Amino acid sequence: MTQVRRAAVLPSDIGVEMIRIPEGSEVELDLDLTFVDEGVLVTGSVTGSATVECARCLGGFTTEVGVTLTEMYAGHGTDTAHAAEEDEVRLLDGDLLDLEPALVDAFGLEFPMSPTCTDYGRTECVNADTPAPDGVSGSTEGRIDPRWAGLAEKFGTTEIGEGAE
Ligand SMILES: [Zn+2]
Repeated sequence: MTQVRRAAVLPSDIGVEMIRIPEGSEVELDLDLTFVDEGVLVTGSVTGSATVECARCLGGFTTEVGVTLTEMYAGHGTDTAHAAEEDEVRLLDGDLLDLEPALVDAFGLEFPMSPTCTDYGRTECVNADTPAPDGVSGSTEGRIDPRWAGLAEKFGTTEIGEGAE
C-alpha cells in the first residue's frame, strides 16, 4: 500500500458554472493506493476550494469542499478490465492512474444543483439586498439548471423544469 499526501493542480474546471473548483487551483490529495491482483484500489479524500455563485442572491464566494473516494482502477488485460464497462471500473493507463474523471464524478454528486450562501455555513446571503426566501420562487422563474442550458438553447425552450413541482 502506498500513501499519497500531496497537492495537485487541476488541469480543468471541476463542477458546473454555479459551483466549481477552477482550473489551475490546487486540490489536496489524501489517498491510499492499495495494489491488488487486478489493479489499484484508491481510497481516501480529496479537498479543494470551490467558487460558488449563490442561486438566491447571485453573490460569489469561495468555500472548502471535499469528497471521499473509493475507486478501483483495473490493469489492462485483467478480468476486471474486461468487465469495466458494466461495472464502471476505471482503467489504469499503463502506469498512470487518471484521478480526474473520478473527481469529476464525485464532486458532481457532492455539489448541490442550486448552491446558496446558507448551504455553506452563512446565516444570510452575502448580498444584503436579497429578497427573503419566500420571494425566491418568483425570482428564479425561467432560470435553467446550467447543465441543461445548452440543450434549452438548442431546442429553443426556456420552459424546462417549470410546472414540475
Ligand atoms: Zn446568497
